[in-house]
Amino acid sequence: MGRTRKSFAVTRHAMMLGRLTDGAERDHGSYVHALYKAEVFSPRIPDMLITVEKSICGKKPGKRSVGWSDNDNDNDKPITCPKCLKRLEK
Ligand SMILES: [Zn+2]
Repeated sequence: MGRTRKSFAVTRHAMMLGRLTDGAERDHGSYVHALYKAEVFSPRIPDMLITVEKSICGKKPGKRSVGWSDNDNDNDKPITCPKCLKRLEK
């Protein structure tokens, strides 16, 4: 199966969390993104598919980030990421 790029099944809304040291976000990472689940090959185990969460805008947490917020309340927040919104419009 090829990668599906056009149809996104948004599973939840989440903010990208910054570095562990500063819990309070400033400019970057304060957007609410739309996340979907994608299957990718594990970086550690060969031929192992794992499910990861990605934002539909393609932004992903950096190496120093702790990842996506895990807050149910975020689902009630509107998407604020301009790129995610653009993709959702289509
Ligand atoms: Zn986004």
